[in-house]
Amino acid sequence: MWGWLVIFALTLVWWVFVGNEAGAPKASNWSEVKELVSKGEVEKIVVVNRERAEVFVEGQDAAAYEFTIGSVEVFDNDLKQANEQFGQSVVLDYRNERGGFLGTLVGFLPWLLIIGFWIFLMRGMGGAMGGPGGMMGVGRAKAQIFDKEKQEKITFKDVAGLEEAKVEIMEIVDFLKKPEKYKDLGGKIPKGALLVGPPGTGKTLLAKAVAGEADVPFLSISGSDFVEMFVGVGASRVRDLFRQAKEKAPCILFIDEIDAIGRARGRGAGSFGGNDERESTLNQLLTEMDGFGTNAGVILLAATNRADILDKALMRAGRFDRQIEVGLPEIREREQIFDVHLKKLKLARGLDRSFLAKQTPGFSGADIANVCNEAALIAARGNKSSVGKADFSAAIDRIVGGLERRSLVMSPEEKKLTAFHEAGHATVSWFLKNADPLIKVTIIPRGKALGASWYLPDERHNTTREQFLDKIASLLGGRVTEQMFFGTAETGALNDLERATKMAYAMVAFFGMSERIGNLSYYDSTGNSDMAFTKPFSEKTAQQIDEETKKILLEAEAMAREVIEAHREGLTRLAERLLERETVFTEDVEEILGARNG
Ligand code: ADP
Ligand code: ZN
Repeated sequence: MWGWLVIFALTLVWWVFVGNEAGAPKASNWSEVKELVSKGEVEKIVVVNRERAEVFVEGQDAAAYEFTIGSVEVFDNDLKQANEQFGQSVVLDYRNERGGFLGTLVGFLPWLLIIGFWIFLMRGMGGAMGGPGGMMGVGRAKAQIFDKEKQEKITFKDVAGLEEAKVEIMEIVDFLKKPEKYKDLGGKIPKGALLVGPPGTGKTLLAKAVAGEADVPFLSISGSDFVEMFVGVGASRVRDLFRQAKEKAPCILFIDEIDAIGRARGRGAGSFGGNDERESTLNQLLTEMDGFGTNAGVILLAATNRADILDKALMRAGRFDRQIEVGLPEIREREQIFDVHLKKLKLARGLDRSFLAKQTPGFSGADIANVCNEAALIAARGNKSSVGKADFSAAIDRIVGGLERRSLVMSPEEKKLTAFHEAGHATVSWFLKNADPLIKVTIIPRGKALGASWYLPDERHNTTREQFLDKIASLLGGRVTEQMFFGTAETGALNDLERATKMAYAMVAFFGMSERIGNLSYYDSTGNSDMAFTKPFSEKTAQQIDEETKKILLEAEAMAREVIEAHREGLTRLAERLLERETVFTEDVEEILGARNG
């Protein structure tokens, strides 16, 4: 690629400088030339193509000056006058020229270059244009292919933990192994699944294991490989990739970091044209996914750590219609991951893997693999014959140092605060009968959140005022607990507060749930008006909405406070259980807090 750019640049330079070399006539004008005529220095003037005058100076073969003339007649007259005035006899001649070969070439050079460059780009698109694949393969997908024979096979045995994800993905393996079974029944298999989880949690590993279990080739490419500087390259890479995949079918096609292309279209800064390349790549991907039949034998797996920013079109039926959560491992899973990676090491006797798992909260599978590797290096440096507990501790410390910058690992105080915060959510939602049913609570950090509570998704279509209040109270339960137990507040509640505030605001401004504002709605279902600039209500109403929103939040907070006050002891025990186990399920909550009222 750079070779071509250099040639292009050199030609341009040559064209600009050498093309106007010293031999060419100097630009001038009639009054200057007239002066030369007066001095008797001009021998003759040749008018070329009735528009340009070349001035030949006495004793020189080539034209020394040139200038543009307005009209031949006027110029002819001017020169006659000058000749008379200065007593000279400058000859006027005429010539028509179409330019020599070189001149034409120079004239066409920019066009030649542009056309050449264009052809080069088109050829670059390779497969798309039916060409042999582009000069430097710009348009070729750089998919890495792991053939089943050559590559050491990865199976589910190599993937520790992730039980739920494995169960979900098992169906895909089954289909690849026995497609007839599904085809005979007329069943459709999902074309793609999205693996969602933080980096290093084994998404790639899981995808490889699917290929390994089903004994099919594994093609992998990263989303960022699609997006390059050349327009149209991304789209043609997608085409090429799917062509390769169809040739290899049945196979697994794995796209890592799909968010690089799959981010929602037409959003964010520079959405005016700046994202065209990514968008056309994404469109091509969608087209290809729709294009191949369900039973073509190509199964797409894609990984991302943020499903929420992906374009909704990707998740539609027949595309990535299932999402598989691949979360950070819990304590038991970490033990299993240690098992996998400790196998490769020569261990000191009596090394306790549950000790290692306890020491590594918030570590991903990749971090654990790193710890094992680092521990072996540390042991080797100390000339030891086996890797022992001290080596692991040092390795963990080192990795934690790196992790802390990623703010994944919590200090003990932070962990305690998070445990109480989450226990607060759980307790409040447990005792308010309209809150969503709790599934599990965890203090394993996920993304920016240090902990999380899972609820059964709400299947109601309508929400009553009471249900809203209970939900808001549960959301505030975390923050209220922090304040009641520690007399402090931390930034981790941001998301809770944001959601609670929005809910309360919606109650007032959208759902007519405040008596003072009344049964009216400022909701705009058309999405056309921009509330940020023009509010559909007066300043006075705005103030009332603010006040009413706040009133609801205070009411919900009081409810949360009441529940927590009444169940201080249960909440404390729940927090302690969380600190001990990291994740707590409905059964534990029931055991500690008693049956749910409601
Ligand atoms: P991701 O694709 O989610 O970023 P990878 O699959 O590339 O993560 O994982 C990187 C490495 O971390 C793997 O090669 C493996 O050594 C280790 N690893 C991650 N998760 C697990 C797991 N569940 N079991 C065993 N090893 C794991
Ligand atoms: Zn919270």
